[in-house]
Amino acid sequence: MRRTLVIAKPDAVERRLVGEIVRRLEQKGLRLVAAELRMIGAETAAAHYAEHEGKAFYSDLISFITRSPSFVMVVEGPEDTWKIVRAMMGPTDPAEAPPGTIRGDFGTEMTENLVHGSDGAEAATREISLFFPGL
Ligand code: ATP
Ligand code: MG
Repeated sequence: MRRTLVIAKPDAVERRLVGEIVRRLEQKGLRLVAAELRMIGAETAAAHYAEHEGKAFYSDLISFITRSPSFVMVVEGPEDTWKIVRAMMGPTDPAEAPPGTIRGDFGTEMTENLVHGSDGAEAATREISLFFPGL
């Protein structure tokens, strides 16, 4: 699987960091295959984050991801591109994300952690078809 889904989340759009995030992905050598600024609705958010339903942070997560537009992208590179993107994002908690990663350089909060990247080949396939059916 050479493609992965990347979302510049509402905080990234609000903070005008979309260009910076796209620049980093492109500079790394990855290519945009599809991209759109869009509101993620409640239904899509629930499908996207189904694995977290029932967890303590779930309602905060859904409120956050649906509060304003996200920049949703499909990014392509070599086999397992999802791994490259995850490394560039840094760990979920920005407090643990090293400098040089997107979360490490721009984030301080667990919820407002700027980016989403698929966490495996199966997730990438599922998420790309959720956000860009027919791609
Ligand atoms: P994402 O799926 O958004 O790329 P991730 O794969 O690094 O992030 P997940 O475990 O899938 O992390 O969690 C999804 C999102 O839920 C995280 O980005 C974060 O905003 C939030 N989250 C995860 N764990 C916690 C937690 N313990 N407390 C608060 N929020 C959390
Ligand atoms: Mg995840």
